[in-house]
Amino acid sequence: MKSYDVVVVGGGIIGLATAYYLVKNGVRKIAIIEKEYIGSGSTGRCGTGIRQQFTTKEHIVLMRESVKIWRLWEEILPKPIHFRQGGYLWLLRSEEEDNEYRKYVALQNLFGVDSRIISKDEIKEIVPDINLEGIFGASWCPSDGSAYPQDVLDSLEMFLKSHGVDIFDYESVVDFKKTSDRVISIKTDKDEYALDNLLIAAGYATKSLANKLGFDIPVKNYRHQIVVSEPLKIFLSPMVVDRSLYFTQTYRGRIIGGTDTNEEETDDLTLTYNFLQKFSSELVSVFSKLSSVRLMRHWSGFYVVSPDKHPILGPTPLKNVFIGTGYSGHGFMLGPIVGKLLAHYITYGMFFLEEANHLTLDRFEKGMLIQEKAVIG
Ligand SMILES: Cc1cc2nc3c(=O)[nH]c(=O)nc-3n(C[C@H](O)[C@H](O)[C@H](O)COP(=O)(O)OP(=O)(O)OC[C@H]3O[C@@H](n4cnc5c(N)ncnc54)[C@H](O)[C@@H]3O)c2cc1C
Repeated sequence: MKSYDVVVVGGGIIGLATAYYLVKNGVRKIAIIEKEYIGSGSTGRCGTGIRQQFTTKEHIVLMRESVKIWRLWEEILPKPIHFRQGGYLWLLRSEEEDNEYRKYVALQNLFGVDSRIISKDEIKEIVPDINLEGIFGASWCPSDGSAYPQDVLDSLEMFLKSHGVDIFDYESVVDFKKTSDRVISIKTDKDEYALDNLLIAAGYATKSLANKLGFDIPVKNYRHQIVVSEPLKIFLSPMVVDRSLYFTQTYRGRIIGGTDTNEEETDDLTLTYNFLQKFSSELVSVFSKLSSVRLMRHWSGFYVVSPDKHPILGPTPLKNVFIGTGYSGHGFMLGPIVGKLLAHYITYGMFFLEEANHLTLDRFEKGMLIQEKAVIG
């Protein structure tokens, strides 16, 4: 039986980013097991957005650090990841909202994020074609941005393979061998691997794998739908957020975006016409220039949502089992810093950022939840 220092379940941004930092920490025998292809989960289906405009110290600090890594990765990863700091323009529709977001911006500034509240005139300068009817102002952060998910994963995969990490795709983890407090080996539909440490970063399936190991994680899976258009000449750089609508233009010229359809918890990824109707009418009401754009693709994926909309990171009741889940729609942007934090925890037994200590599974038992208010889609 092959034996590993760390086995990572899940070939999404969290699994690959953690493996990247495990390599950097000098861990030698690492395996990633992915049920389908790398990126087949939420990462390959996401909206590309990367922002620091959050409402809690935990999210703001983690995202400030994640953006530093995104900038670095754009420079040093073996293939381009198309990280671009085009900003996030968060439209505000009333004086009350404006007052509320001024408080969030003050907190973001306190932790070194360059966001600010801007007037309608400035909005017009940033996105000239926007319809400002009913808009009061906006929260704007120029260092927010986007990256291209599949390019990020391809680039990380290339790095990992060149550093001796075994990546087993189209192989599903089906069971575990354990003692009362540790996992000894992992069984897949093809093989069995002995391990010292196990990271479960299996997105929508993290909870069910944890349940197999005898503990629970309070997350729920929600379907989110998203579309991309035909390519257009580049004219839009920020991600625009208007209530639950979000959209931006990719480096290939396509408009990508989504909205919320208030769904129930589900394991069903069927697409709905209702979403297309809602998205189109919201998009056109704020950006009529796009009324004749042709949508090319429509797909869906899961938001894995925690009760306080923050990730659940690190230790579990089993001594050598770690988790990363519950990103509530923000896991792509958090990927680099969460990967670095999880790799540090697995290697050295602690986090290097104080804020991450507030994001462990035991916060639910202790009743120490931290509510995020700026959730999109
Ligand atoms: C429509 C949509 C838009 C989004 N937009 C954004 C955005 O703009 N910005 C942002 O930051 N986030 C966004 N998100 C959220 C983001 O995609 C996720 O939070 C993030 O990708 C989670 O990464 P992950 O690695 O935890 O999970 P995943 O990417 O889901 O990876 C988990 C992997 O585990 C594998 N797996 C599952 N079970 C097993 C098993 N038994 N054995 C082996 N492998 C297994 C799966 O196949 C999967 O590939 C969006 C999500 C959706 C659905």
